[in-house]
Amino acid sequence: MIHKYDVALVGGGITGLMAAQKLSDIGMRVVLIEKHATFASGPSTRNEGWLHRGTYHAASIRDRATALQVASRCIYGHEQLRRFSPEALEDIDVKPLVLIRAEDRVSEVVSRWDEAEVRYRPISLSAAKARIPAANFDNAAAVFEADDVSLNTRLLYRKLHALARKAGCDFFVGAEILRIEGQAATIKDMDGRINAVEAQKFVYSAGTGAKSAFQEYHNIELPIRYWKSHLVVTKRLASAGVFYVDAHEAAMMHHGQMSIVGLNEDAMLCHAPSYDVVPDRAQNLRNAIRRIFPDWIGEDAVDIACTKVDLVSDTDSARSLNIAIREPKPGHICVLPGKMTEAPYLTDVLTSYLHHHLDDSPISMRPCDEFVREEAPLKVA
Ligand SMILES: Cc1cc2nc3c(=O)[nH]c(=O)nc-3n(C[C@H](O)[C@H](O)[C@H](O)COP(=O)(O)OP(=O)(O)OC[C@H]3O[C@@H](n4cnc5c(N)ncnc54)[C@H](O)[C@@H]3O)c2cc1C
Repeated sequence: MIHKYDVALVGGGITGLMAAQKLSDIGMRVVLIEKHATFASGPSTRNEGWLHRGTYHAASIRDRATALQVASRCIYGHEQLRRFSPEALEDIDVKPLVLIRAEDRVSEVVSRWDEAEVRYRPISLSAAKARIPAANFDNAAAVFEADDVSLNTRLLYRKLHALARKAGCDFFVGAEILRIEGQAATIKDMDGRINAVEAQKFVYSAGTGAKSAFQEYHNIELPIRYWKSHLVVTKRLASAGVFYVDAHEAAMMHHGQMSIVGLNEDAMLCHAPSYDVVPDRAQNLRNAIRRIFPDWIGEDAVDIACTKVDLVSDTDSARSLNIAIREPKPGHICVLPGKMTEAPYLTDVLTSYLHHHLDDSPISMRPCDEFVREEAPLKVA
């Protein structure tokens, strides 16, 4: 039997699940094919769970224009997820503290925040100290409160999955795509049955698997790079999240009784995605945590690593910071969010594009649709 769809999504991390929910919700016939037995087994759950609100990226990306663009996409994603899944927000009653170490950057950072419409409130060092006595703020030139928040990614994905299913999306989980020819895929499902799936568009929301998917199914080499980053998972360090915006300093978010801490700008280029911890890098992160929490020993803590990806043609461009959408082969689209927080923006651009190209809805054309029917370009990065 041949299963026919408008869109086949390859990969069920945040991008695939969110696209499945949005596309099904506007009446498209959608199937999501995930190779693992559970959804989002990679970076989409193996991360800090930091729902950014532009605070970090407006400040930390060197180029001001790129910083403001990424920040505005993070704000877009942040606001959308706050509305869509408020139950998945954690610690909403405690605002995290933002630290700036470099005194000569404070006014530039604040002016970027103002331009990007990042919400922040300066607080004194003594007020910060009173709030988190265990923290050392001596290295900080300025402290602020921000609206960034922790996200329970599993709860968000559960909702996306449930709503997509309710709207008619089909799922193959634990499934292997044996081959893709034209607009038809041959899929071995988790029971070993062979299925034929046809779709007008294939969308590769495969994250770290996107490069090998295009190699294997289409013999196309995408300029995708892999960047490894480390995290420490430890018992809750303080009553509020704390993060520096400076390079090589720590950024900490909370999830219940646990804190997850990352190191700013620690991403290292690697040849293949892996979870192997690089001891020196993990140690750098532990040292950065001790610069904020000098008494932290970290005996109970666990070092983990994960890999993110970016799609670049220009190797000097910022790494894994921005979204990318490409159609390297007609009918086959690669989508990478840069960050979880940018998935709402990415999937909205994707939804609009697919609506334009697969439009069979019973809605009258607008004059601009009637008179301008040329191809809209699909290249966002
Ligand atoms: C250490 C680290 C910390 C991070 N922290 C944050 C953070 O705090 N906040 C934030 O906003 N972003 C963060 N990010 C970035 C964010 O995690 C990723 O950008 C995002 O999760 C990517 O989601 P995705 O759905 O595109 O890809 P993925 O999460 O990689 O999901 C891809 C899915 O596709 C499946 N798949 C792959 N190949 C195939 C195939 N051939 N067939 C079928 N299925 C396939 C995989 O099994 C997987 O389920 C972090 C990333 C890392 C590495």
